[in-house]
Amino acid sequence: LFGRPWIFIRGVPAMKFLPPEGPPEIAFAGRSNVGKSSLINALVGHKGLARTSNTPGRTQELNYFVPDGFSGADDDLPPMALVDMPGYGYAQAPKEQVDAWTKLVFDYLRGRSTLKRVYVLIDSRHGVKKNDEEVFALLDKAAVSYQIVLTKTDKIKDAGVPRLIEETRQKILKHPAAYPDVLATSSEKSRGLDDLRNAILTAIAR
Ligand code: GDP
Repeated sequence: LFGRPWIFIRGVPAMKFLPPEGPPEIAFAGRSNVGKSSLINALVGHKGLARTSNTPGRTQELNYFVPDGFSGADDDLPPMALVDMPGYGYAQAPKEQVDAWTKLVFDYLRGRSTLKRVYVLIDSRHGVKKNDEEVFALLDKAAVSYQIVLTKTDKIKDAGVPRLIEETRQKILKHPAAYPDVLATSSEKSRGLDDLRNAILTAIAR
């Protein structure tokens, strides 16, 4: 599943453009620049799949990726889809943009029965910020299972990683829909990727 070619199937700017419900979906959320594109690319072993860039997101779309080689017909569905949610937390974002993000994401979270889990990415250097807490609250409200993934662990001292995992775990324990185990990754150093792949495979099997 991972390590085979994946393809982009569509960008969804509003609910009516969602593909029909089919394979189990795993979504990724995080502040802009958290390393979300890099992690998705590293996870599936496909460098150019999700776009990596520092430009604050213009189009707010849910981007759908599936492994290649399935027609999508009822008897030939891909085993899963990855959904790259638009980044959040731009310092300069106007209120209308934040509201549009919240509407699209909340509608999706609440309305998608095939969504199995959301991975919320947190930059190891920054930790959990106020807008991450707002996203946790949205996920709790939608009652969607979610798990925290620390990114860019190569940017902090090795000894700091277990401490950051524990600090982050303490912060999410009070959140009803959060999965208490925190994953730690580095796309750059290929760390923690197998743990994340295994967590995803377990989540889609539920
Ligand atoms: P996105 O906006 O969340 O999709 O973030 P990107 O994947 O585009 O990454 C943002 C920046 O962080 C880029 O300059 C990446 O090269 C860098 N980056 C991403 N992952 C890592 C990582 O694991 N380690 C390091 N050191 N840098 C990373």
